Amino acid sequence: MEGKSLKVGICGGTFDPIHMGHLAITELARCELNLDKVLFIPSGMPPHKDLNTVTSPIHRLNMVRCAVSGNPFFEAVDLEVERNGYTYTVDTLNELHKMYPEDTDFYYIIGADVVMDLLTWKRTEEVFALTKFIAVMRAGYQDKAFIEQIKVLRQKFDIELIPFEAPLIEISSTFIRERISKNQSVKYLVSDCVDAYIKENNLYR
Ligand code: ATP
Repeated sequence: MEGKSLKVGICGGTFDPIHMGHLAITELARCELNLDKVLFIPSGMPPHKDLNTVTSPIHRLNMVRCAVSGNPFFEAVDLEVERNGYTYTVDTLNELHKMYPEDTDFYYIIGADVVMDLLTWKRTEEVFALTKFIAVMRAGYQDKAFIEQIKVLRQKFDIELIPFEAPLIEISSTFIRERISKNQSVKYLVSDCVDAYIKENNLYR
C-alpha cells in the first residue's frame, strides 16, 4: 500500500531447536500488531551460550526453514548463520536496515528471559534506536519483575517496548532437548518436519 511503512517482526534466537512456543507466540504477535512479515533469524555463534553445547548453525537454520515454511508471513533468514565470528544483534539490525526501505519499522519479539538480559547486549542504545520491541511473558518468570524491568528500561532509555499479553506457553528448547535425550516424544511440541529432521540427523541424543 502506498505511503504505508512496512512493519517487519524479528524473532531471533538460538533455535536449538525451534519449537511451537516460538511459532505460536510469534503468530499471535504478528496478528495483534499487524506485522507485514516476521523474520526468523537463528544465531550463528551465540556470544551468550556455551559453544560446545550448541548444535551447528546449519542444522538450526534447516529446522527453522522447515518450521516456518507453512506460513506465508514467516521467513527464515540466514544473515547470522552466514556471518563469520560472533554474531551481534546490532550488526544484524544494521544489515536489515540496509536491505529494507528507509521507513520500515522493525519489531523485535523477545521473551521475558531476554527482557531481563537486554542490557547485556552489545551497543544497546544503538539497538534501541534501530528497533522497537515486543515483550512477551514466559513461564517461570515473575509478572512483577517483568513489569518492573520494562518500567526501568523505559525510564532510563529511549526505547519503544510494547508488552504483549499472550497465553503462557511452557515450552523451551531446553525442555525439548532434555526429552529427546531421554528418548521421550516431542510430537506437538515441535513441528512434524522438525521432529523428523531431529530423528534423521540424530540430534540431541
Ligand atoms: P533454551 O531453552 O535453549 O534457552 P529457548 O526456548 O529460550 O531456548 P531461544 O531460541 O533461546 O529459545 O529463544 C528465542 C526467543 O524466543 C527469545 O526471545 C525467547 O525469550 C523466546 N521464547 C522462546 N520460547 C518461548 C515461549 N515458550 N514463550 C515466549 N517466548 C519464548
